[in-house]
Amino acid sequence: MDGFIGGRMEAVLSGEGISAADAARLIDVPDDLLGDLCRCAGQITGAFCGDDVDVEQLHNIKRDACSEDCTFCAQSALYDTGTTFNLPAIPEVVEGARRAKEAGSQSYCLVAAWREPPPDGFEQVCRMVSLIRRDVGIEVECSLGFLTPERASRLRGLGVRRYNHNLETARSKFAEICTTHTYDDRLRTLRIAREAGLELCTGGIIGLGEERGQRLELLLDVARLDPEEVTINMLVPVPGTPLELQPVLGEREILRVFAVARFLMPGSVIKASGGREASLPDGGAALLRSGASGLITGGYLTRGGNSPREDAEVIRRARAAGA
Ligand code: SF4
Repeated sequence: MDGFIGGRMEAVLSGEGISAADAARLIDVPDDLLGDLCRCAGQITGAFCGDDVDVEQLHNIKRDACSEDCTFCAQSALYDTGTTFNLPAIPEVVEGARRAKEAGSQSYCLVAAWREPPPDGFEQVCRMVSLIRRDVGIEVECSLGFLTPERASRLRGLGVRRYNHNLETARSKFAEICTTHTYDDRLRTLRIAREAGLELCTGGIIGLGEERGQRLELLLDVARLDPEEVTINMLVPVPGTPLELQPVLGEREILRVFAVARFLMPGSVIKASGGREASLPDGGAALLRSGASGLITGGYLTRGGNSPREDAEVIRRARAAGA
């Protein structure tokens, strides 16, 4: 075991934590020490989060036609990606939540591709939340774009536990990725959600052409928010978007990000999210031994993914390899 990595693990386990300079050194460890880094991140995960894998399903209740111009996103109205507008009926959403619960998911996240919800759309989401809470009883999370304090309080009052709003990428990269809103706009909604009593889920998407140092920059900003949940997506280039030809990140680089995220945020749920099936040969089993403690299952916002049954096998393989 490398002395520096082991020492920083002990610092995390003792509650002392690590500095930004430590994190910078950890994310840059040579390849031959990557196994040590991942093993230590896995030990921290076990100590703080136990063995349970937090499994969540998403329901993209409003796909596409988003006014924003995020260069990686298939749902922006500015790019012709062949996706189509779709707003489901409320009973369909409630039934989706029921199926997710029956398949073993602990939470169900309603996601809508809006800059911010229009008034009628927000009312419809509120009805969905109320009915899911009443009839299904699964934890409900929402990801609806920008929030006002009034809307955040309303969601909290209806029983929404957690609000997802990703920072997407490092502050120093953000203007290249999106010009229709700012990084600070995103931080503002996270602050509003926190002040309303909602738990925070935030993170971003790696592989947008950022440097490794910018991946760390994103992780450090996410850690400062002290989120209950961190979601890390891996770019799957979407034909029709400006990033359609972006080379994807290799597995080693992805492992570094998850491992250092765990050192920085030992108590957070860290979910391997969009892109893991396409980017990783084992579907994410190695990530579950290297810092991740949760999975999004059943597909993503515009792309399919592993079924809950396939992910049960991913989890089984991760446990078997760690035994
Ligand atoms: S990432 Fe979100 S805000 Fe940006 S275009 Fe896609 S749905 Fe809209």
